[in-house]
Amino acid sequence: MNDKIWLSSPHMGDNEFNFVKEAFDTNWIAPLGPNVDGFEQDIASYLGEDVHVAALSSGTAALHLALIILGVKAGDEVICQTMTFSASANPIAYQGATPVFVDSEEQTWNMSPKYLEAAILDRIENGKKPKAIIVVHLYGMPAQMDRIMEIADKYEIPVVEDAAEALGSSYKGQKLGTFGAMSILSFNGNKIITTSGGGALVSKNEEWIKTSRFLATQARDAAPHYQHSHIGYNYRMSNICAGIGRGQMEVLSKRVEKRRSNHEYYMQIFSSSDAVAFCDEPSEDYYSNRWLSTILVNAANGVDRETVRLHLEKDNIESRPLWKPMHLQPVFANSPFYGDGTSERLFESGLCLPSGSNLTNADLERVVTKMKEVL
Ligand SMILES: *Cc1c(COP(=O)(O)O)cnc(C)c1O
Repeated sequence: MNDKIWLSSPHMGDNEFNFVKEAFDTNWIAPLGPNVDGFEQDIASYLGEDVHVAALSSGTAALHLALIILGVKAGDEVICQTMTFSASANPIAYQGATPVFVDSEEQTWNMSPKYLEAAILDRIENGKKPKAIIVVHLYGMPAQMDRIMEIADKYEIPVVEDAAEALGSSYKGQKLGTFGAMSILSFNGNKIITTSGGGALVSKNEEWIKTSRFLATQARDAAPHYQHSHIGYNYRMSNICAGIGRGQMEVLSKRVEKRRSNHEYYMQIFSSSDAVAFCDEPSEDYYSNRWLSTILVNAANGVDRETVRLHLEKDNIESRPLWKPMHLQPVFANSPFYGDGTSERLFESGLCLPSGSNLTNADLERVVTKMKEVL
């Protein structure tokens, strides 16, 4: 059996272990410490725009705290891009609120501004103005941020940017993760950089970030004894994980370059094939980190997405269908949805290809050789 080629696996640089060792040497083995502070500063200076950052235990935790801070409560409604990973929507349910799902547009595969506005108007007419809008930059591709922010501003609804897959991407030269009232990042093992598991909440509003750190450490009031006037959470990042993160921040630009070159390679190989289509950057305004390289398989030729996926699997190569839209998930069957079926069509024909920054040229050649056999 050939060696396994993964969809997206961790890729350490040179310094991660030094930061972790320093944590051991100084006995900072806790969900606080110099690496946590340092990692937060590294992210803030990378993103620019005077943002503040709280390092947390996961991207999901970051999204949960964002919704809590925005005042999302039981019975509220929150708009969410349907084409995403379940972690974008689950925190809405944690709060006892209802997700309202919005379809994708064809250009970026992200939230359709047209259906976003239709959803807002219809929910207001139904008697409930949505409390927040969760927009996702899927696979690193920026959503149509000008139009989405314009609509959000018009109806005065805060945007939470789910940039879990999009660290290193930008829109009109501005880093993703700096557009929303709040934004979240993920450092899970499969993301463009990883802390093994982890996430961050990002905002220009320093008070919100301070509040998130307070809530993430069990909401302890200032007192010598344990005193609580809020429900707290145990959501802070550990100083060990943050050490890995500091090392990873040193190589982030290289990781973006390599992921983009993986995508370039796939595009070049299949540019003349009508069996495969790619999600192009719609204009120079859009810069994707190409966290995952994705294709749409044109089943008109008799070969569908699953044929390609299973053929790769037989050679020990991992690929995965595009994320199944949330409005098609059994767990969200009762949630409202606004759209025209675009995300469902993308899901049916779309495939994520091996995309790690640690793939060798031989790995990439093996993948395309196998793909060519069926396409
Ligand atoms: C990975 C991911 C998350 C969740 O991040 P975790 O750190 O795994 O909790 C949220 N949204 C999207 C789009 C993701 O890909």
